[in-house]
Amino acid sequence: MLKVIVFDLDGTLYEDTHHFDYYAKRIAERLEKEKQALFWQDYHAVLAGVHPLKIGSVYNAKEDVILFLDSDHYVYAVYEWDGTKWSDDAIQKHYPKQISVDLDNMLSIGDLWWVPSTIGRHYGLTNEETYAAFLETRTFMMSPHFTMKRTAGLAELLTQLREHLFFVLMTNSPKLDSEAILAKLGLADIFHQKIFQAGKPVHTAKHLQELCQTFNVRYEEIMSIGDNWRNDILPAKQLGCQTIYIDPHETGVNADITVRSVGEMVQLLSTYIKSERVSKK
Ligand SMILES: [Mg+2]
Repeated sequence: MLKVIVFDLDGTLYEDTHHFDYYAKRIAERLEKEKQALFWQDYHAVLAGVHPLKIGSVYNAKEDVILFLDSDHYVYAVYEWDGTKWSDDAIQKHYPKQISVDLDNMLSIGDLWWVPSTIGRHYGLTNEETYAAFLETRTFMMSPHFTMKRTAGLAELLTQLREHLFFVLMTNSPKLDSEAILAKLGLADIFHQKIFQAGKPVHTAKHLQELCQTFNVRYEEIMSIGDNWRNDILPAKQLGCQTIYIDPHETGVNADITVRSVGEMVQLLSTYIKSERVSKK
């Protein structure tokens, strides 16, 4: 029986994307002049899908290479920034062990948030510099200048369902701007618990474990919904939670259910809930 739904925020409860260009500008202006054109060239190439850096890859900032991991976290492909592919022998020699992603140097490119910052890192910015650009972007998103499009039916569905289910927000973003975004979306009072700066994917499992205790439920009674496979889906699936993956980039990885958009998620959730017994009691 489903009792708890854990929602990611960005890309999951809204799907506006124009703030990514704002973010890219904040990154670019921190770069040396001669690197800015290269930054934009790479940024547009990634968005067009013609760059080795892709949604779903992992960027090793220390060695400046792009890794592709299987679901057991082993490296199966490595690309240099210019697209040069490593041989299988070189991969075996250099990356024989499982890879642990982190939030400093082994970056999981799980959604568009990671694209401007990763290209910035490639051109010499530090983690602190890209994070400052991120915070400026979040401040912009709080302001009236950032207009957000509400997904039809989402707030209504959640308002209806919160009588029967516990809702948890789990986002890597800070509290202040996330609360402002929730208010813009009409979702300010929807959640029974909100976890900000969650440190996903590193701490996803720990949070889910705590939610089991808080709400006195088993993993099978929790559903995780998100647009970042490595942050929101993989750790939840490994624990036995149900998952819905919002995959606008068609990365093709596994979840229990995959949808292409937030609107599709709303539709699916409303039919799913009707067919399943759901209760928080
Ligand atoms: Mg997200």
